[in-house]
Amino acid sequence: METTHLNKKQRLEKNQNCHFDDLPDDLIISILCNLASSASSPSDFLTVLSTCKRLNRLALNPLVLSKAGTRTVAVTAENWSDSSQRFLKLCSNAGSADACYALGMIRFYCLEKKRNGAALLAKAAIRSHAPALYALGVIQFNGSGGSKSDKNLRAGVALCSRSASIGYIDALRELGHCLQDGYGCPRNVTEGRRYLIQANAREVACTLRSFLSIKEGEMTFPVKEIHPVNRFLKDWFGPGGVKLSEGLTMCSHDGCGRPETRANEFRRCSVCGTVNYCSRGCQALDWRVKHKVDCTRLTDLWLAQVAAEIGEELPPEYNEDVENIFAQR
Ligand SMILES: [Zn+2]
Ligand SMILES: [Zn+2]
Repeated sequence: METTHLNKKQRLEKNQNCHFDDLPDDLIISILCNLASSASSPSDFLTVLSTCKRLNRLALNPLVLSKAGTRTVAVTAENWSDSSQRFLKLCSNAGSADACYALGMIRFYCLEKKRNGAALLAKAAIRSHAPALYALGVIQFNGSGGSKSDKNLRAGVALCSRSASIGYIDALRELGHCLQDGYGCPRNVTEGRRYLIQANAREVACTLRSFLSIKEGEMTFPVKEIHPVNRFLKDWFGPGGVKLSEGLTMCSHDGCGRPETRANEFRRCSVCGTVNYCSRGCQALDWRVKHKVDCTRLTDLWLAQVAAEIGEELPPEYNEDVENIFAQR
């Protein structure tokens, strides 16, 4: 350790022609702020801390930490530790909305610290953090962390509409379905459809943008990609991770990862009853991407069983599907 330390010192002395020591703190802090907001992973930023004492001190300046962006605080479930929690805490205390959101979600859903988690989400929401506004909306819709009577649909809609006004796709979709169903707000099918069209258009634009940026060789963070916080939740409760308490399930939408906080909290598919969703948005998205096929197949299978029991034959269009299901079992 001593040798490495000396080597670093020697290297700095050797590079004195860079006049690093002469650079004012303000300039270095401004460069570090840029790094904090654009680093591609926590380690990208944290390596600076071990470079030299001066950089360590300046990188931990609250102004720098307040700029920590989505990927800088994208701690993984696999690497979760006291020190990663401390890092998120430092960034959230400094005022980084992304850190407040990440730590808030982790504490609320994974660490059984509901009050503190919700307070952190609120801190991010006050800073107009769209995912945090939406996350609080989902908590209100479900009465998460409390009982069924803690559901507050109107608050859910209000939070979603704040998030949707910033253009957050999940919130636009949620609000569209709420308006179409008259859930937590007066029914307005036309307005609901308008929000759903906006959500779809933004989704297509994001896909195109991320496709184009990959083509140009400059990887950016595509909005449609699963958010690091959702990835964290999925991995935390995933295979080999923490087991959910008896009777609780996770949202069946692949890109979500939210777990129930009490039994039967999430909405169930009313057709097959085999999947659960934290929100209308997750349900609609999963229906389009995956569940429509699975649900139809399950229904066909049950119809076949009922038909067999009463000695009836299913019409030919059902047979192919039912045979496929039996082949997969
Ligand atoms: Zn279903
Ligand atoms: Zn969900």
